[in-house]
Amino acid sequence: MELPEVFFSRVEPVPVSAPRMVVSNDALARELGLSPQALRSKKGVQELSGNSVPKGGVPIAQAYAGHQFGQFTMLGDGRAILLGEQIAPGGERYDVQLKGSGRTPYSRGGDGRASLGPMLREYIISEAMSALGIETTRSLAVVVTGEPVYRQTPEIGAVLTRVASSHLRVGTFEFAAKFGDEDDLRALADYAIERHYPHLEQDEEKYLGLLREVVKRQAALIAKWQMVGFIHGVMNTDNMTISGETIDYGPCAFMDAYSRDTVFSSIDVQGRYAYGNQPTIGGWNLTRFAETLLPILHESAEPAREKAQVEVEKYVAQYRESWMSGMRGKLGLFSEDEGDQALFAGLLALMQEYKADFTNTFAALTTGADEGAGMFDSEKLAQWRKKWKARLGAQQESEREAKQLMQSSNPAIIPRNHRVEEALSAATENGDYGVMERLLEALSKPYVHTGKVSEYAEPPKATGVPYKTYCGT
Ligand code: AMP
Ligand code: MG
Repeated sequence: MELPEVFFSRVEPVPVSAPRMVVSNDALARELGLSPQALRSKKGVQELSGNSVPKGGVPIAQAYAGHQFGQFTMLGDGRAILLGEQIAPGGERYDVQLKGSGRTPYSRGGDGRASLGPMLREYIISEAMSALGIETTRSLAVVVTGEPVYRQTPEIGAVLTRVASSHLRVGTFEFAAKFGDEDDLRALADYAIERHYPHLEQDEEKYLGLLREVVKRQAALIAKWQMVGFIHGVMNTDNMTISGETIDYGPCAFMDAYSRDTVFSSIDVQGRYAYGNQPTIGGWNLTRFAETLLPILHESAEPAREKAQVEVEKYVAQYRESWMSGMRGKLGLFSEDEGDQALFAGLLALMQEYKADFTNTFAALTTGADEGAGMFDSEKLAQWRKKWKARLGAQQESEREAKQLMQSSNPAIIPRNHRVEEALSAATENGDYGVMERLLEALSKPYVHTGKVSEYAEPPKATGVPYKTYCGT
């Protein structure tokens, strides 16, 4: 089944002068059934820079719209081109997309290009997310183009190869609802069902089923973000997938000190996409998704609205269930108890009060390591620990089992902002990719708790200057 014509434009990537591969993902290549050597070959680099189209590929740019910071806008792949699909040895189908591959009919005023720093950043963070066990698009390679891109200053041009189970977004449905007719919408929904939720194909109310599944996957996904302190930064509806994968690594970052108000994005002045707001925004975006489906949920408006509402309202409970079960894992708890909510809230309130490092707090509770002064010295934490220990002691599972559960739920290593910046500077300023390679290696095994403090686990030194991120450019 093909995506209907209104949803894309045929467009070739714009060639670049001197492509050179700077990072490639051998493990992902193998998972996809591609040869890492072939990707690195002259022909591979030509293809991953957009200088030639792989055999059988029919490049397209996809149309989509979206609500950006609450405002509806027409968007589309302004600097990305889908090369084609790759069927992995296990039969799974993946989109292979070039990002930064030149202008398209959706570029508006943009140059269609990307600069090296943000593409490496997407590579690092998306691969870290994948290793953390969080659904995400992946990064196969970054190629420098040999051409400058002009932002505030000239920067090194680059193309990222992104792999996704599809690039369908809530915004693709918003595009269909706004600019297509009902047949287009239905065709898009059928395509999404076939691609991501084939079990719904024979369902009498398959479009309602689609809404239900997307709600469920997004609730689970956003709860996972919360569990590792990941802040997406730009949760516009065009950056929310139908597959339930994290997409579009622009101003995203991981939180160090725990605070629900944490925002890194320079443009998010109101804190719309702050850490503590992500779950609510998820629900807001899913309401926009539900609205697009109304015409095909029922022939009359009112029953369509009622049906949609029932599904969207499930989001809150589903998110909460995922969050609670995530927190249980982080604290080594196997079954539910009515005191859990209060137990979790008690710890988080202390973390907020003491500005405790989110990752290292849970890592220290896991290993029993001494986290030093501050919250770990406090009488309040001692009191909380008593309750927690009592709860652990009352469950059937052994201490060892609880510890194992905590180890696999609490990362020892996350992509710390200062470490990411250090890797990006070495690469973009000195052409030194070793720092990034070592960081990627550490990030590939986030749940290994050695007991020794890894250099990658250290929070940033307090500088008084808040970390800022910028929309990927
Ligand atoms: P993002 O903020 O990355 O989600 O992008 C929002 C929209 O801007 C998408 O439609 C992008 O394709 C488009 N866009 C971002 N950067 C560029 C660029 N340099 N040239 C053309 N379009 C761009
Ligand atoms: Mg986007």
